[in-house]
Formats: sequence, C-alpha cells, structure tokens
Amino acid sequence: MQRKKSYIDARIEKANIDKGIIVLLTGNGKGKSSSALGMICRALGYEMSIGVAKFLKGMQDTGEDAFLAKQPNVQTTFMKTGFTWDTQDKAFDTRMAIKTWSEAEKYLTNQSIDLVVLDELTYMINYEYLDEQKILDVLANRPKNQHVIITGRSASQSLINIANTVSEVKDIKHAFRANIKAQKGIDL
Ligand code: ATP
Ligand code: MG
Repeated sequence: MQRKKSYIDARIEKANIDKGIIVLLTGNGKGKSSSALGMICRALGYEMSIGVAKFLKGMQDTGEDAFLAKQPNVQTTFMKTGFTWDTQDKAFDTRMAIKTWSEAEKYLTNQSIDLVVLDELTYMINYEYLDEQKILDVLANRPKNQHVIITGRSASQSLINIANTVSEVKDIKHAFRANIKAQKGIDL
C-alpha cells in the first residue's frame, strides 16, 4: 500500500499540465450522451459557459433538453433530423448537418465558451455528411483552454487520435431488447 501510495502521489505530481481536452465517448452501449450531460452538470457547478450541438437527434424532446433550456450558461443548437433511413433525403440531412456544424464552429471559436459538447458527431463523419478534415482543423485551432466532448458510436481513428481521453461503452444488455420502451429520466 505504501508503494502504491508513493506511485500514485508521484503520478499526481507529474500531472501538472492545465489545458482544454477532448473527451471522446464511443461504443455500442448506453451511457455516452448521458455521461456528457454528467460533465455538463460538473461544469455548471463552476458556472462555466457551455455550448451544446446535438447532431442527428433532437427530434424527440428529452428531459435534458428541458433542463438545458433553463440554464443561463448553456447555449444549444439542434440538428432536429433523423437518419437518412427515416427521411430518405440525404441532401436535406447533409444541409442540416452543415447548418448545425456552422453553429458548433461558433462555439469552437469563442474564447468565452469553456466546454463544447458535440453530441452524436461521429455519425456525421461516418456517413460523410460533414468533412472530417474540416472538423479536425477547427478542433485543433479552438481556444487553448476549451474542453470538448464528442459522443457517438463507431468513432473514426482520426477522432481517437486527436482525443485526449477516449472511452468505449460496451453493450452487455439493454432493456429495449426485452421490449421495455425508452423510459423518462433514464433514456430520454
Ligand atoms: P444515453 O443518451 O442514454 O447515454 P447513448 O448516448 O450512449 O445513450 P445513443 O446511441 O445515443 O446512446 O442512443 C440513445 C438512446 O438509445 C437512449 O435512449 C439509449 O437508452 C438507447 N440506447 C443506447 N444504447 C442502446 C443499445 N445498445 N440498445 C438499445 N438502445 C440503446
Ligand atoms: Mg447518445
């Protein structure tokens, strides 16, 4: 235990860099967007200023949208469109994605925003609604102390490369597969 303590103390002392980081939450299990919301709560506790861009979703009203709308320190933008297999109109979805990204880009160039959440961004890259290189450039040039959280399944290797913290949520079981519908406060 003493050896363990010395090791941990040394590691803590070494971790003295203070900078904005990119957290990437990916994988097929439940818990990516809700984890991002957990960090939003933490940041709000310090009265930090937050920009949230929700790609893909936002068709269905969720508890967090109602909560975030009441937060003076939070700005939000919603793509408000589903997948192409819902709309059957890729050109429309692409336009909506680009519009949502241009709002996200405003957050990512705004020094006064401390935390930017790009919810479900991975799909925009994987389905080529948005240009990945452009996203990587904007992320690389964002304000030095600004944190970014990206969520979505199947994150590309480039996103993994630029992120500082990457977690994969593994799907072991989900209530939906036992025919339990999405529950308020848990799923939406
Ligand atoms: P959450 O927002 O609950 O943290 P998530 O962001 O990890 O979930 P998404 O792929 O964005 O996952 O899906 C959001 C919705 O789909 C939520 O209602 C969630 O419960 C549900 N969901 C997530 N993963 C699964 C799964 N493996 N099987 C069935 N439904 C899922
Ligand atoms: Mg999600």
